[in-house]
Amino acid sequence: MPLLKIAIYPEDEKMLRDRCRPVVKVTPRLQRLIDDMAETMQDAAGVGLAAPQVFVNQRFFIYEWNDRVDALINPEVLEVEGEASEEEGCLSLPRLQGKVVRPTRALVSGVNRRGRRVRIDAEDYLARIFLHEIDHLNGVLFIDKADRTSLHWLTEEEEKERVARVHEVLEKRRRGEPVDVDPRGAG
Ligand SMILES: [Zn+2]
Repeated sequence: MPLLKIAIYPEDEKMLRDRCRPVVKVTPRLQRLIDDMAETMQDAAGVGLAAPQVFVNQRFFIYEWNDRVDALINPEVLEVEGEASEEEGCLSLPRLQGKVVRPTRALVSGVNRRGRRVRIDAEDYLARIFLHEIDHLNGVLFIDKADRTSLHWLTEEEEKERVARVHEVLEKRRRGEPVDVDPRGAG
């Protein structure tokens, strides 16, 4: 399966700033696209990837959680609660990191990659992934919300190390070995 090109800010600003249109139907073609996005996300060491980040103007994103990649199609945020400031990164803003205040819990609904309606009560890191990706569907990037003073760039060396650590974790999981903390942060 081919790796997809990831839209980068600001070069691909037009794509990344567009509001995405709802998905009309979950087709085999969409499911193949989700598979390609999963491979692209893992290659780039991400935890989430939204359709506009691969030049697709549709309301869905993929995410990895508990060793599984799933999609959330036409997501809606039903409830949010709490507030925390945590570091985030984005595959469309490579090497940039910064602190973003977001709710600590988000109840979201949507359709998964098999076309089933789901409702997910997400907390902490998963809630953060969902809200970051849903922002992408509305043309919003984490730099719009980040505390400006916290923004910093990883060096190319640091980014290489980050990607290498993630790939090591993925490899261990494939071999069924235990892994400690998931080192990822980009979505
Ligand atoms: Zn992102």
